[in-house]
Amino acid sequence: MWRATVFTLFPEMFPGPLGVSLAGDARARNLWDLETVDIRAQGIGRHRSVDEPPAGGGAGMVLRADVLAASLDANLAPDDPRPRLLMSPRGRQLTQKRVREWSRGAGVILVCGRFEGIDERVIDARGLEEVSIGDYVLSGGELGAMVLLDAVVRLLPGVMGKEESAAEESFEGGLLEYPHYTKPREFEGRAIPEILLSGDHAKIAAWRKAQAQALTQARRPDLVRGAAPEKKS
Ligand code: SAH
Repeated sequence: MWRATVFTLFPEMFPGPLGVSLAGDARARNLWDLETVDIRAQGIGRHRSVDEPPAGGGAGMVLRADVLAASLDANLAPDDPRPRLLMSPRGRQLTQKRVREWSRGAGVILVCGRFEGIDERVIDARGLEEVSIGDYVLSGGELGAMVLLDAVVRLLPGVMGKEESAAEESFEGGLLEYPHYTKPREFEGRAIPEILLSGDHAKIAAWRKAQAQALTQARRPDLVRGAAPEKKS
């Protein structure tokens, strides 16, 4: 079973949104498992202290290297094959490609930072790979971890109904997705494009592809430039 282990100071935030809908149902069906580890269990002293002011001065607090290392060591087998990811605005930005790679593995280990961040030495000493969910700053890594897990879990075998519902989605073919329509046939004077009602599957496929290309060109020209050469279908 695909397994996620999340190291956090706020385990009560989980499963949160991962406990409902697609991800929640999938977990109930044992298609994946989520385990949280409270970093504070390895805190120092009677108050289970986990943070200290930054060396060299400055604002805020820093999560101690020894506390986080002790938490990782007490809860992970040394031969655990899963990638050890640290949620961090400095990290490599999350992409659908990486999400898909992780969905094919054994699971992930996610470390959620808080405060100003975590002591640099434990990142190196425990081989944590920094992953960002975008160019903005959250107050903690938990929401980022949930974003990453939500994106991966929906790709796990058996989670989504039809295989192709993932294959055609935004980013999968290097393009944004074409527009969707459903009933009613007319909404506030706007009709469903005629071609979608024609029953001609080849024409519909060609129209959708053209729409996806035009939309991507208009909104995300960077994706068009970076797209892999098209495969003949
Ligand atoms: N002082 C840090 C930000 C700390 S924010 C800096 O300027 O880089 C506190 C924690 O929130 C981080 O340790 C990280 O775990 C999480 N976090 C904040 N922004 C994030 C982002 N864009 N992606 C992933 N995690 C993020």
